[in-house]
Amino acid sequence: MELRKDPITRSWVLMANGETFEATTAACPYCPGGEAGGVTPILTHSIYGQHSGVLVYPHPRPLYRIEGESERRGDGFYDRMRALGAHELIVEGAEHNSSLSMRTEAEIISLLDCWALRIDDLKRDARFKYITVFKNYGETSGQQIRHAHSELTATTFIPRRILYELRAAQEYYQLKERCVVCDIVRQEEQQAQRVVDLSPRYLAICPFASRVPYELWIVPRYHHASYEADMLRDRAYAELAGILKRSLARLEQVTDSYHLVLHTSPNTNRRPEVPGYWNTLQEDYHWHMEILPITEKRSKSYSIKEVYFSSMPPEKAAARLRELPASRKAAPQSKLTFDEGKQSK
Ligand SMILES: [Zn+2]
Ligand SMILES: [Zn+2]
Ligand SMILES: [Zn+2]
Repeated sequence: MELRKDPITRSWVLMANGETFEATTAACPYCPGGEAGGVTPILTHSIYGQHSGVLVYPHPRPLYRIEGESERRGDGFYDRMRALGAHELIVEGAEHNSSLSMRTEAEIISLLDCWALRIDDLKRDARFKYITVFKNYGETSGQQIRHAHSELTATTFIPRRILYELRAAQEYYQLKERCVVCDIVRQEEQQAQRVVDLSPRYLAICPFASRVPYELWIVPRYHHASYEADMLRDRAYAELAGILKRSLARLEQVTDSYHLVLHTSPNTNRRPEVPGYWNTLQEDYHWHMEILPITEKRSKSYSIKEVYFSSMPPEKAAARLRELPASRKAAPQSKLTFDEGKQSK
C-alpha cells in the first residue's frame, strides 16, 4: 500500500497493489469462542470500573501500518509516501449482527467512550496528523467484516474533506470571528425545518446542502473543537448516546446501509507545517458526526459523481425522519448496566 498525492487537488490517494481479498466462509473470529483468531486486543475496554464488551484489535486487512516513518519523497515533482498509520477494528460487542440502534444505551455509551480513548491515545503519537473513527454499516456501504464493528484510522495526512472543513472554518472565523458550525446550529434551531431531533446539548439535522437523501449530522449545541477532549472531560455520554440511538433507529427505517464518520480536530501535538495554521483551531473548528445513508443502489453517472446530486431536499427528509418512530423493537436485555452513582465525574 502506498500513498500518492494528486498534484492538482493536493489530495492523497491510497494505492493498493492490485491484490484482491477472497471472502472466507470460516467461522467469525470475533464471535464468542473465535478468540479473534489468536490476535491480542489493543484494548479491552472498561468504563465506570466494568468491562464493557467493546474490544479493539488491529484491523486484519489494514490500509495503514504503524511501523516506521512515512518516508515522504519526491518522484520528479510528484509526492509519494508509505501508508504509515494505524487501522483498528473496534468490535462493538459479542453479538455478530447488531445494528447500533438496537444496542442498549449502556453499550452505545461504552462505544463512544472507547472511540474517545483510542483517538486520545493515538494523538500522543506525533507522527499522526489526523485520527478518526467511522462505521460502514450494511451490504452496500463497503462493510468488509460482518461482525458488528466500527473502525479507526490514524494518518500522516489530513483527509481531503476534513482539510476543506478546516480551511473553510478558519477563513470564516477570520472574517466573522465566529464559528461557522455554531452559526449553523443557531439558524437551524430558529428555522426548525431541518431538525430531526433536539436534546439540551445536541442537535440532529439534515444539513442545508445535503449530499445524499437523509444525510444527517449530530452536532453539539455548545462549542468544542475536539470530540475526545470534550468527552473525556467528564465521560458523561448518556445524552449523546440517546440522540445517536434515536437518529440511527429512524435512518434504519429508510435505508439498510450508511457511512458514519466522526469529524474532530486534527492532532495538535504535531507541529503544523505552516506556522500559525492552528492558531484559532480551538475557536474555529466544531466537532460533529456525519451520517450518509446509502439509498441509491445503482452506480452514479459521471456528472452526478462530480457534482453532488440528491433526489430529496433535507426539509422533506427531516420531516419524514421526525415522523418515524425513534426506536426499533425493544433491544434485548443487556448484561451491562451502570450504577449512575458510580460514574466518575
Ligand atoms: Zn461474529
Ligand atoms: Zn462552534
Ligand atoms: Zn464534517
